[in-house]
Amino acid sequence: MSELNPPSSPLLPLKLTGQDTFRFRCHKEISCFNQCCKMIDVTLAPYDIIRLKRRLEMTSNEFLSLYTYPFEMDGHGMPGVKLKPLEETTVCPFVTEEGCGVYEDRPTACRYYALGLMAMRLQDSPTDENLYFKVKEDHCLGHQENQEQTIDEYRKEQGVEEYDQVNRGWQQIILKKRSAGPAIGRPSPRSYQLYFMACYNVDSFRDFVFSPGFLDSYDLKNENVDELKKDDVAMQLFAFRFLKQVLYAEMSIPLKPEAEAKRLKRLEELKRLNPYDNDLGSDEPSLVD
Ligand code: SF4
Ligand code: SF4
Repeated sequence: MSELNPPSSPLLPLKLTGQDTFRFRCHKEISCFNQCCKMIDVTLAPYDIIRLKRRLEMTSNEFLSLYTYPFEMDGHGMPGVKLKPLEETTVCPFVTEEGCGVYEDRPTACRYYALGLMAMRLQDSPTDENLYFKVKEDHCLGHQENQEQTIDEYRKEQGVEEYDQVNRGWQQIILKKRSAGPAIGRPSPRSYQLYFMACYNVDSFRDFVFSPGFLDSYDLKNENVDELKKDDVAMQLFAFRFLKQVLYAEMSIPLKPEAEAKRLKRLEELKRLNPYDNDLGSDEPSLVD
């Protein structure tokens, strides 16, 4: 089973778009049925966690501790989470004799397989775009089946569009970090803690948003507060906006006037203590400074 953004082989190094066709079919009668789910390497996206924790009727915190393990997505320690195999095996905890036991809520990477997804922003382009790669693993016989489809048709059939839509903000945050290049150094542990909670632990992030500290600083008058309280997807989308604001200064959630005054005062103090640091633009956590 491939990762969401797999780093190397068995990726075929040919970039494909949604209109390109590929030959592949997976079905219950195929002799390799379930092989891929017995040797997993599945990177989880934020919406995967929401779907699975809801299906399993647990909090995101419980899901993270029972079914995932953390890993570093890049050389600077950008946090990611993967699906944890059954103890001392490579077997997915959800596989059954009949196939995937969480099929309707299976993760993005499982839906895309045998394709890999790579979000990228081409040089001088104002928007990011998705490119696809074929993933050919020796055990997977689906490539020998006689079914050809476009990648867009396959994405539709696999129900992946909804997943990509919700996860888009996450991809944008990762792309922005990557496009800042390797020279910027390792971001602070505080930035990564915030990133981890906002991207992967929606229930804890909700508690954070409705804590006195947050409500003293941020003005939620433009938000649908009831929806944020009840709807995980709404809260996840808000979390991406919040991250973009504190990490990249893309302002979309107003600060309360007194909090803004305090923030400016803290900045002045920082500048007084670091008079030769011309880059002091923010005292918030950041992935790129
Ligand atoms: S979640 Fe389902 S499809 Fe994905 S690896 Fe596990 S059993 Fe296979
Ligand atoms: S065809 Fe590939 S994806 Fe389908 S069950 Fe076999 S190994 Fe898994």
